Amino acid sequence: MSTIQTLARKTVQALTPYLSARRIGGRGDVWLNANEAPDCSQYQLDSSHLHRYPEFQPPQMINAYAAYVNLQQDQVLTTRGADESIEILIRTFCESEVDSILICPPTYGMYAISAETCGVGIKEVALQDNFDVNYQAVEEAVLASQGKIKVVFLCAPNNPTGNMLDKAKLAKLLTATEGKALIVADEAYIEFCPEFTLTKLIDQHENFVITRTLSKAFALASIRCGFTLAQKSVIEMMAKVIAPYPVSGPVAQIAEQALSAQGLEIMRDRVAVLNNNRQVLSKALLELDCVVEVFPTTGNFVLARFKDSALVFKAFADDGIIMRDFANKPRLENCIRITIGNSDEMKRTLTTLNSL
Ligand SMILES: *Cc1c(COP(=O)(O)O)cnc(C)c1O
Repeated sequence: MSTIQTLARKTVQALTPYLSARRIGGRGDVWLNANEAPDCSQYQLDSSHLHRYPEFQPPQMINAYAAYVNLQQDQVLTTRGADESIEILIRTFCESEVDSILICPPTYGMYAISAETCGVGIKEVALQDNFDVNYQAVEEAVLASQGKIKVVFLCAPNNPTGNMLDKAKLAKLLTATEGKALIVADEAYIEFCPEFTLTKLIDQHENFVITRTLSKAFALASIRCGFTLAQKSVIEMMAKVIAPYPVSGPVAQIAEQALSAQGLEIMRDRVAVLNNNRQVLSKALLELDCVVEVFPTTGNFVLARFKDSALVFKAFADDGIIMRDFANKPRLENCIRITIGNSDEMKRTLTTLNSL
């Protein structure tokens, strides 16, 4: 080990960084590996104030998001992507080397990575066979932890399995864990199924937190902009920990435009197109011999199990289509996650599958 390696914290020495779609990379012209939107809008930039530090929480942007989700401005915090929100939650509520988070795998990888980098433990309650959360087991784990499990991360719709949470069971869990743990619902994909949003639970439960992002349905993954929704008391604690200027001026300007009436309309039109493409793709997948099962989903992605996913993955790669391989993850043997793209990209996907 080099001197610098030995200087690093023990947890950092042992750490394997998150392999994001972009870090894994891949060659091709059809990118269906990161749940990004297939199109990009135009934005205006006013550069007259770039010599000044931005606002801590740019008021117009916060107002626009609060109006969009029907909450008060003091119930909204903006962060450098939802990923930063995950990390701030852990740093705000979990004592390093003492406390733990709880996750329900298979799920989004950043909860565990953020906990590890903070020296915070990771407890797991696996999803049930149909990939629903085992609410009873989560409740029991939190109560049995004697205050050590501080944050529970649930994902709705869950990445990569695509399924939603059960609102009544979640509400019961929130009541049972009140004063003991925060329950976080990661709504990164909620714009694709807005009828399922859990924002109404915020006013009733102080221990409930929702994370959101502009990276998926808003087609703004590049600007790194996310939001945390919770009661004022939670937002105030997180505001103590977050960096002094978490969101850059240009990002705030772009976010405001994306959240304008016109921006929201563009987003909703995109969602309608992608949801339709998802239905067409799911149906076509079910008819293919190489497909074993297609998991029901309400996000802009579909998880499919193939007879031989390595063969399928290679066929995609040979045709310049980059997918996300989950075959090596526990319980996701032979599974590939396909981002819903535009109709040309979906046609290319099916052409490759049909050639097998
Ligand atoms: C993409 C994704 C995020 C990350 O959002 P950013 O705002 O880009 O950091 C968070 N959670 C889930 C479940 C995601 O799929």
